[in-house]
Amino acid sequence: MRDFIYLDNAATTRPCEAATEAAKRAMTEEWGNPSSVYSAGGEARRALERDREIVRSAFGAGAKDGRVIFTASGTEANNTAILGTVTAKSRNRGGRVLTTDSEHPSVARAMERLEQLGYEVLCVPTAGGVIDEAALSELANERVIFASFMTANNETGALYDVAAAVRTVRAASPKAIVHTDAVQAFLKTDISPKKTGVDMICVSAHKVNAPKGTGALWVRESVIRSKDLAPYILGGGQEGGMRSGTENTAGIAAFAAAVAEGIALADVRREELESLRAYALDEISRRVPEVRVNRPARAIAGVISLTLPGIRSETALNFLNSRGIFVSAGSACSARSGKASSVLRAFGLTEREADCTVRVSLGHENRREDIDRFAAALADGVASLQRMKK
Ligand code: PLP
Repeated sequence: MRDFIYLDNAATTRPCEAATEAAKRAMTEEWGNPSSVYSAGGEARRALERDREIVRSAFGAGAKDGRVIFTASGTEANNTAILGTVTAKSRNRGGRVLTTDSEHPSVARAMERLEQLGYEVLCVPTAGGVIDEAALSELANERVIFASFMTANNETGALYDVAAAVRTVRAASPKAIVHTDAVQAFLKTDISPKKTGVDMICVSAHKVNAPKGTGALWVRESVIRSKDLAPYILGGGQEGGMRSGTENTAGIAAFAAAVAEGIALADVRREELESLRAYALDEISRRVPEVRVNRPARAIAGVISLTLPGIRSETALNFLNSRGIFVSAGSACSARSGKASSVLRAFGLTEREADCTVRVSLGHENRREDIDRFAAALADGVASLQRMKK
């Protein structure tokens, strides 16, 4: 992919050198089964526990009050957190569950499952990329058993005030368990349990320069002690009995290596990304003023959502692809379904606007030259596609 300009870092990121080396080491040296009792198993187990500590530290202040459970994806981490908690106790049955109208499908579909099981699931609006606190206050009552608010949105980049939402839920229902999908926010902003007050946080390796197929769920120790989380995948009792299945030690080793690098460089990367985003916004509005930027009130630096003037995202994507530039329409998931994104509709876009929206997502490997090439290609594309429509 070296000849291309990759501007789809919210979909996935290129595994870093440290991650590929760590995966190779796990496969060639520490390749035992971490559950085996002999020394090769012990070696793999020690490596696994070392990696768990690295990943746990990345959750930030207050992370020591909980543990990390490795999963096979961010999707599985979200499913485990939501279905494993809400269905853990029979007294929860029929209780109220709160979430937002902008969640990733791995949360939204799990919520639909809860509805089918008889729980009362209610969505808080997020127009403009902001959790509607007044609506949340009305929905939050003593019947709330669980709530899930994403930290950063994968389609718009909106950074939500999870801490405020958690306070509102807890004021109404002190024992409610609160979860956040922090897949897009991990290593980009403070997602710590201390700052947000949540009980569970989900992240995914392939968004932070590690390979696909590994996720992690941070869970507050008190939730595990009180048996408020039931394992979602049953079997040999790995991961402290909370997620069975022999651990993907190579994926986890790569994840931990990428996380260690990400922690060390977090401040520098954040600053560079902020500056690249500012440059991109200036360049896009200068070269293609007819393109509208969908700006959330607060955003993570990497994601820029652009609504094109009457040009369907699919057409724009094909045009940019022909120029060797990779961006996406909303998210990779909604692109596959071919439906206008419900997240963009929730943000406040019309169906037509949502259909004409592309997502540019920056990573720390992108440079200003990438933005220059993108903005020039977009300007060409918009001009020629508009000419064709006349
Ligand atoms: N949550 C959000 C916000 C995401 O953007 C994604 C991936 O795009 C996921 C969850 C799912 O993560 P994974 O691809 O590891 O299943």
